[in-house]
Amino acid sequence: MNFYMTRQLSGNLRQALACSHCGNGLEFTEAGANCRACGSKFPYTASGALDLRLRHPKPYLLAFEIPPSQLPGGDLAFEPLTMNPAPEVNLSGRSVPRHLTRELVSYFPKAKSPGSLMLDLGCGRGIHKELCEAAGFEWAGLDYDSPHAPLLGDAQSLPFRDETLDFVLCVSVLQYVRYPFVAIREIHRVLKPGGRLIGTVAFLEPSHGTSFYHHTHLGAYSLLQFGGFRVERLAPSKAWSGLKAQASMGMFFRLPLGLAQSIVFPVELLHKLWWRVAGLVTRRPLENTRLRHFTGSFEFVADKPGSG
Ligand SMILES: [Zn+2]
Repeated sequence: MNFYMTRQLSGNLRQALACSHCGNGLEFTEAGANCRACGSKFPYTASGALDLRLRHPKPYLLAFEIPPSQLPGGDLAFEPLTMNPAPEVNLSGRSVPRHLTRELVSYFPKAKSPGSLMLDLGCGRGIHKELCEAAGFEWAGLDYDSPHAPLLGDAQSLPFRDETLDFVLCVSVLQYVRYPFVAIREIHRVLKPGGRLIGTVAFLEPSHGTSFYHHTHLGAYSLLQFGGFRVERLAPSKAWSGLKAQASMGMFFRLPLGLAQSIVFPVELLHKLWWRVAGLVTRRPLENTRLRHFTGSFEFVADKPGSG
């Protein structure tokens, strides 16, 4: 039995869901959900998920504004994340799921009301559910293709009404998206003003087989800004180095993580030492530069401007 049987979707969540094609509200039946406006039908899958993925191609118009400057504006330092000095919610006693760090979790928002809804975009097996619920949110897990997700959908065509969510978690997703500029606009659209986006994106991880765009710090920053977000933090992952990522996800694929990482450990040590020496010689602090240039992934915290 699937734990997240779709028939358990709350009235609150059903209200927030919308047709992936036209954005109108849905009618729920025993077989799935229907859109009266455009006639799209979204069935339940064998695993009990509501399949809200597109039924046919959807046109999406996107306008770009080419700025006169080459680099994105702002004065973000792109330094490794430190613990939030004023966390909204205390999650310190909770275990931290894979891909997240305690530092990133300390930026989780607190649900403002009992029915506060959050989207776990690319939820996979649902490992973030407990943590999000501990922050007071009603968890809505969506994935493109996971037998454990209660909702199936596309990040480029989110099946939610405008401004219905207080929080979006987007862990290791953006590199898989064919049109990340569309996805970021979609995330912005479904968030309420004042809502928060937290996530990670691959940088020096090897190709995942189905990944499209791995992001540098500037790429991720520019993407978030294009989406309309105010970027609060954009940080290289300190523990997940490019070398570790290459070793465990590519070079020695399927070798136990500890073993794969121990193979590159001496190289990593030498690399750190080399940069430290370079810092001493040039009399410049280079540790943050080193992390930024060689991390496996970036973490980000961004807000949709507005009072909420
Ligand atoms: Zn429709």
